[in-house]
Amino acid sequence: MLRVTEIFRSIQGESTHAGRPCSFVRLTGCPMRCVWCDSEYTFSGGEHLSLETVLDKVRDFGCKLVEITGGEPLAQDETFTLVERLCSEGYEVLIETGGYISTERVDPRAMIILDVKCPSSGEEARNWWPNLDRLRSDKDEVKFVIADLEDWNFTKGIIERYGLDRRAKILISPAWEAIDLKALAEWVSSSGLDIRMQLQLHKYIWGAEARAV
Ligand code: SF4
Repeated sequence: MLRVTEIFRSIQGESTHAGRPCSFVRLTGCPMRCVWCDSEYTFSGGEHLSLETVLDKVRDFGCKLVEITGGEPLAQDETFTLVERLCSEGYEVLIETGGYISTERVDPRAMIILDVKCPSSGEEARNWWPNLDRLRSDKDEVKFVIADLEDWNFTKGIIERYGLDRRAKILISPAWEAIDLKALAEWVSSSGLDIRMQLQLHKYIWGAEARAV
């Protein structure tokens, strides 16, 4: 069984896939507690659904792209089977993970959007750095959520130290309402790095508090 907070169809809101029709499976539970977390409602509750029920719902939505998110999707063991089944059925599968749990067991056909937690998240110490070794430049993306200048300097340091902008697509996200967007745009545009600033499309369309969008 999988513990599921919500399953819905929307458009993909952040990543290089933003704007595409997408089915979302949002799993319940996360071992981290990021200061600016926008999905605290996934920390508890949820509904226990069988793998087949989840697959049926995804099939009904009819989207080629499926995102498995949370919470922390990799914290549930059956997630790895779900990903495998979806890949075998021909879906493009995105996994949005907080970066604390190893991605080693993820089906290699899936695409990983890996968070690197910046200092303002309060969870920097829990980044599982070996995950960076598994990045594939043609599939995977690394996301940094920036709340202030310290986060930005940390981000630049990590990208440069690991040569990350050559090894994955790099997403720079502003922490919601925490940072001046024009300042962040200036930092990104003058960085000399091959990176991408992104906004959370779904929040601009439906509002920050909306669920299942
Ligand atoms: S990893 Fe994601 S879901 Fe977990 S606390 Fe951090 S932002 Fe929230």
